[in-house]
Order: sequence, then structure tokens, then C-alpha cells
Amino acid sequence: MRQTNCCGTGSKVGTDEGYELVRIEKAKNNCRLCDDYAERQKAKPVAVMCCEGACLRGEIARKAANILCHTLAPEKTARICLGGAFTKDTGQRDLVRKATRLIALEGCFINCSSRMMNGVIDGLEPEVILVDQLYDFDRKLFGVEEMSAEEIQSHAGTVPRRLPLDTASVKNHPSKYQVS
Ligand code: SF4
Repeated sequence: MRQTNCCGTGSKVGTDEGYELVRIEKAKNNCRLCDDYAERQKAKPVAVMCCEGACLRGEIARKAANILCHTLAPEKTARICLGGAFTKDTGQRDLVRKATRLIALEGCFINCSSRMMNGVIDGLEPEVILVDQLYDFDRKLFGVEEMSAEEIQSHAGTVPRRLPLDTASVKNHPSKYQVS
């Protein structure tokens, strides 16, 4: 199978057999702060999960998710801890499982957050958004260190306005979709 990597260059990968089986050690510890956070988010209709990766694309997606959930629409959106939701079946995973609307902000077309959570919750159908298609940049860049912090923040700030959402704070950028 031929694939293009996220930086735009072609590469050969192995055959696609559909799935990888992963064995995850059950969490021995629980974070009370995380559980309390999840409890407080339960009434919110929209859950937002995101690539939490270390590259430039992941960083911009992560920052965009934070801006959306903590600044633009904090009353409607719950920011999911991807690592917590994926590795333990507690409050964070429940937020994903029970959300009225589930949005996956993917840093690139690896689609890590939606694929991870699909692996632990049957039948999950998030709205997958490829964040790196929502801003213009030199697609040969990969690392966080290859772009200034100011430019990263600027791209992250533009992403929520280009999402198919209509939050109170982005109402000047009409969209056919609503966060509801
Ligand atoms: S999944 Fe894609 S966007 Fe996320 S860190 Fe990895 S390469 Fe970057």
C-alpha cells in the first residue's frame, strides 16, 4: 500500500491487515483531580479529543483544542485527556463514550485520537477534523522547534474559527453547524 506521510513525501508501508492488537496494563493508580475534572464536565454536550503528539502539527492541534475548550466555548465543550481516556476506563473515557457530540481534532492524517478511542469504545463515531488542513504553512516542516512559538500560537488561534462549529465567540464566522 502506498501512503503519503504527513510532511508530503511518499513512502512504502507494509500490508494493511486492518488492526493491531494492543495489551495495556491496567492503571494501578487513579488521579482524583482527573476524576473530579471529568465529573465537572459531564453536563457539557461536546467532548473534544485531540492528538497530543510532540510534532508541530500535534502541537498546533493541541493548542487549538485548548483555545476552543477553555476560551471560546468552555460552557459547552469538555477537553478530553487522550492518554487518560485511552489507558483507563474511568471518567475521561466516559466523557467520550457519552458525549452528545464528539469531535476529534487530529494533528495529521494519522488520526491518532479517533483511532485510539475507537479501539477502546465500540461503535464510536467522532467527527474527525484534520487540523493541519485548516492553516497554511510549509508542509515540509515537522518539529515544534522548526516554527516560532508565536507562529504556532497564531495558527492555533485561527483553527477554531475554521472549524465546522458555531460558538458564541466565533459567531462572526458563520458556519452551517452548531455546537449543541
Ligand atoms: S500523530 Fe501526526 S500530528 Fe500527531 S504527533 Fe504524530 S505526526 Fe504529529
